[in-house]
Amino acid sequence: MLDLNHSRMKMLEELYLGIQLILLLLSLLTFQHIPIHNSILPIKKFLFIYGFYLAFLAIYFIRKTYFQNIHHFNPNLFLSLIDGIFLSVFLYLSKDFFYPVFHLFYIYITLQTVRFYYKSSYLFSSFVTLCYGIIVILQNPKNLFSLEFLMNIFSFYLLSYVLASILKEMYRLQSQTSFMFKEIKEKNAVLNEIATKDYLTNMYNHKSFYKYLKDVIKASESKNTPFCLTIMDIDNFKKVNDTYGHLAGDAILKEISSMIHDHIRKTDIAARYGGEEFAIIFPNTSIDQAKKICERIRKTIETHVFIMNQEKIKITISGGVGCASIAPSSSNQHNFVELVDNLLYEAKHLGKNQFKCSEKILCLD
Ligand code: GH3
Ligand code: MG
Ligand code: MG
Repeated sequence: MLDLNHSRMKMLEELYLGIQLILLLLSLLTFQHIPIHNSILPIKKFLFIYGFYLAFLAIYFIRKTYFQNIHHFNPNLFLSLIDGIFLSVFLYLSKDFFYPVFHLFYIYITLQTVRFYYKSSYLFSSFVTLCYGIIVILQNPKNLFSLEFLMNIFSFYLLSYVLASILKEMYRLQSQTSFMFKEIKEKNAVLNEIATKDYLTNMYNHKSFYKYLKDVIKASESKNTPFCLTIMDIDNFKKVNDTYGHLAGDAILKEISSMIHDHIRKTDIAARYGGEEFAIIFPNTSIDQAKKICERIRKTIETHVFIMNQEKIKITISGGVGCASIAPSSSNQHNFVELVDNLLYEAKHLGKNQFKCSEKILCLD
């Protein structure tokens, strides 16, 4: 119902309860100093009962908020009307002492309008009118037709109208702002996707690859753990393009990228390094683990039958795998990428469809 977030609704309920407690304390302190006589006793009794009621509400609120971790703070209409009845009884009983306390009705309408959203504001001004009418009838029914009575009722409704208009505009602006904020967030996500991902394979692009490589080197440095890198390249891809067309080549690139994603772990970072070249960063991984994953990818691609234009195509890949550990104050990532790239070319020269792995762990310095 309310277009407010939970923390603001919680704050409102705390404020509402706090105001009631302060009013109770003020009333208790005030009546403490008035000499006891007959009309004071019912007020004291009333304040006592009201105190119990408030204590119950406060305990219920604290239990709900801090012990049960419930985050719904929708105000209760029934309890709010009971609050109104308490207020009316108090105003009726204390009429002989303070006439101005009658203005608490305005505070009541204001608080309930804010708590219940502007749509309920006329409900509370009508309820207050009813209570006020009953008080006037009990005091002196003739006053029902007095100008003061009519002016007060008019003021109740005027207050509701003004508050409802302000709140309506406020919530309209708020929902407009949150809608715009959501739209900006969504557009930013799309822009981020365009800037960091490759359009064809939806893998990270060359630029993101280097960003992630830097991050992994940093993490590896701080945790003192090795990480691995592979660069793989589709064998004889030019021939595939020349034979089956560029579109078939694109479809194969897509299929291979999804196969790569199927074999890597969530923590691994796969990127389209170049045209038909892919790179995978394996954070916190030994060379043996990385070799195993690469070999699985190679075998899956080798045994897979790609169907293009109703023709069966066999594809193989070659690659290089390297492992690096970080020496203190290191950061020369380019040496490492070059080493893995050279391993890829070695694999090509050795006859393709294979991975060439570095036997030693490179210490970046
Ligand atoms: P090698 O086994 O030595 O890697 O041979 P190759 O033919 O795969 O390598 P070469 O570098 O000669 O050719 C790479 C081919 O990859 C040429 C290029 O048209 C193709 N290619 C690069 N990017 C794309 C792309 O986005 N889509 C398609 N369909 N082909 C691409
Ligand atoms: Mg190639
Ligand atoms: Mg290539």
